[in-house]
Amino acid sequence: MGNLNTKEVVEKYGFKFTKSLGQNFLIDNNVIIDIIEGSEVCKDDFVIEIGPGVGTLTKELLRRAKKVCSIEIDSKLIPILEKELEEYDNFQLIHNDALKVDYKELIGNEQNVKVVANLPYYVTTPIISNLLNGRHKFKSLTIMIQKEVAQRMNAKPNSKDYGALTLLIQYYCNTKIIRKVSPACFVPRPKVESIIIRLDRQEKPKVDVDDEKLFFRIIRDAFNMRRKTLWNALKNLGIEKDKLQQALNNANIDPKRRGETLSIEEFANLCNHICKIK
Ligand code: SAM
Repeated sequence: MGNLNTKEVVEKYGFKFTKSLGQNFLIDNNVIIDIIEGSEVCKDDFVIEIGPGVGTLTKELLRRAKKVCSIEIDSKLIPILEKELEEYDNFQLIHNDALKVDYKELIGNEQNVKVVANLPYYVTTPIISNLLNGRHKFKSLTIMIQKEVAQRMNAKPNSKDYGALTLLIQYYCNTKIIRKVSPACFVPRPKVESIIIRLDRQEKPKVDVDDEKLFFRIIRDAFNMRRKTLWNALKNLGIEKDKLQQALNNANIDPKRRGETLSIEEFANLCNHICKIK
């Protein structure tokens, strides 16, 4: 592991942090080691890093991976990264918003694709949703995220953290919490605690659904109106009342239940019964 020099690089270039871009850079070597080891990146891997900052994590990834492609939105960081990482010929830098990148094109024919990132917290959920729903063929995402978001990803039915994000993650991935990270490991310090989590993408989604779009629509409606019964929440689907009643009966789900009590299997079963009678 090379010397960690986040603070030196920041000083050398007189870099000024932009809070609205979620710029909290890592200054703790052990955290970098745990991200790298948790991701199990090796010489065969094509790594996509979102938000390289001044390149602290990037450098360690470059030493281990076949290729690292980092996507950074902040134009002030581009010349710094180009200079600091110039010795690595397996480095590609994309100056863009991670939400606007064409990942299909970027990944091309690469087989062993892993995403590794200390994510900007203000866009964690859209970035992850984009990557998962795009069905890009990456093997895993090892990411540092806000503790509360990690808890939502790992939640069980009937808990306050259980919601649309839980089901999105659990549909596509197995999750593994690697460790907690305190605000003292960053400069500037974030207000929240963080967690490193690995999402291992499964070959096949966890449940079989006949219409994925409808499946996620049902979930969205069920949680948009968390305090309402499923019956009231699902009225927005625009299905005739007696058909919705019949689908709920066939799926063996009491219409008076709230969405937050349904397991992923029950959501899938309900979706498939709605598909049958529509
Ligand atoms: N990887 C560095 C580290 O660990 O020290 C920096 C991580 S910092 C939490 C997040 C980084 O993401 C910053 O460099 C920020 O400029 C960048 N960023 C913010 N929004 C972005 C976006 N929409 N697309 C790409 N990068 C973004």
